[in-house]
Amino acid sequence: MAETPVIEVRSITKRFKGLTAVKDVSFSIKKGGITGMIGPNGAGKSTTFNMICGYYPPTEGHIFYNGVDITDKKAHEYTNMKIARTFQIMKPLKNLSVLDNVIASCYFGHAGAKSAKEARERAIEILQFTGLYEKRHVLSKDMGTPDQKRLEMARALATKPEVLFLDENMAGLNPAETEEAIKLIRKINESGVTILLIEHIMQAVVSLCEEVIVLHHGEKIAEGTPEEVMNDPYVMEVYLGI
Ligand code: ADP
Ligand code: MG
Repeated sequence: MAETPVIEVRSITKRFKGLTAVKDVSFSIKKGGITGMIGPNGAGKSTTFNMICGYYPPTEGHIFYNGVDITDKKAHEYTNMKIARTFQIMKPLKNLSVLDNVIASCYFGHAGAKSAKEARERAIEILQFTGLYEKRHVLSKDMGTPDQKRLEMARALATKPEVLFLDENMAGLNPAETEEAIKLIRKINESGVTILLIEHIMQAVVSLCEEVIVLHHGEKIAEGTPEEVMNDPYVMEVYLGI
């Protein structure tokens, strides 16, 4: 029998008043991999993340986490289920140092630190893992985009997730910074974290993802390996207008 997917969405639809942002989308994410989600702006990618992460429920359809129906669970209950995410619009605590930002995150979720010592030790370990240790005393607002993105990942890792959702984590990075971000994402995955990432940078998707899901106007229009979806005639039409 096939292994239970870590995340499965069945026919989810999200309507905001008159607008259908996501329409009858189904997919599953297998444990241990890196799955990409691509599609033009407004395709419904972030809305799909928000539903899975419990920011709001789908209007229709069901979401399963390790085979358990979590459709109506709230965000904090999801953290108990070891799902962490970063945001397209970053939300670090601007006037705190990098270290304090990560320490604060260590108290959240299923593995919330029980003491200040535990939180600090875990935060330092994560800063070393993510390459931010040397900048631990810098205020997060004083860092450039690449380090802010790295900090977002560090904060998510502080909750010891089993699944990590990355929403456009490489937007605004130059090619060298993108390469560094790809390396870090691979390293996080190799440490045992299943990853679902929304990304516009195709180089990153091709290099990282075994599976890619393509959304367009709220609908899933293709799914497969990066090579399969890039050669899909409808995907080519949507992206290249041919
Ligand atoms: P993507 O992340 O693929 O760019 P989104 O999921 O952010 O797309 O948005 C999909 C559609 O849903 C867009 O038309 C967007 O304007 C709309 N939308 C997203 N969130 C809301 C909301 N909270 N209220 C109303 N409309 C929304
Ligand atoms: Mg988005």
